[in-house]
Amino acid sequence: MADMSKKTWCELEGMRDRGIIIPIGSVEQHGPHLPLETDSLLVERIAGEVAERIGCLVAPTLILGVSEEHMDFVGTITLSPETFKGVVYDVCNSLSRHGFSKLHIISYHGGNKQYLVELLPEIKDAGITATLHRVLGRLGKFDHAGEVETSLMLYLFPELVRKDRVERFHYRIPAGYGWRTKDYSESGVIGEAVEASPANGIKYFNQIVEAIVEEIEDE
Ligand SMILES: [Zn+2]
Repeated sequence: MADMSKKTWCELEGMRDRGIIIPIGSVEQHGPHLPLETDSLLVERIAGEVAERIGCLVAPTLILGVSEEHMDFVGTITLSPETFKGVVYDVCNSLSRHGFSKLHIISYHGGNKQYLVELLPEIKDAGITATLHRVLGRLGKFDHAGEVETSLMLYLFPELVRKDRVERFHYRIPAGYGWRTKDYSESGVIGEAVEASPANGIKYFNQIVEAIVEEIEDE
């Protein structure tokens, strides 16, 4: 069992030489068919599987991220970039103060990435070793609640997918940076959710897990 926060401090005493994964998700709209916590649920499962395979621990999932681009949709919660970076820094610093020296951040939500990239040098300057691993970006598809995420949810959390709300959502691919989701998709979906399947979900899950395992083992 890799979940660090389910252990007692006594049990953790002898585990400081293990790596720790810090999963980071979001609470943001995922169209009419997926729950707000999609990114957080998925990154937790991915982190858990990576941890099982390489024998490391998993810190509690940080379920809030920077999701300003989704704020036109009710329920989305966004941290300011400063707050987000502060929280991630404090988590890394706490673990480091306990003697954990190998931290692996798995960042699911694309909107968090730039702030983590900004933060890494600060973490390093504080003498903390942390590496950053991305999730969906490595599949080479731009997807928000589309075929990729819907497939992953159909595989891992089928009971949370509103299958009767899946349709061929209209969207246009955003160009450039600084976009608001609403400008490109009225439903909040970017991608072909209607083509999703549990079988593709298994495929994407394994691809992501194997790639992250390989990155961590190569460090
Ligand atoms: Zn997502």
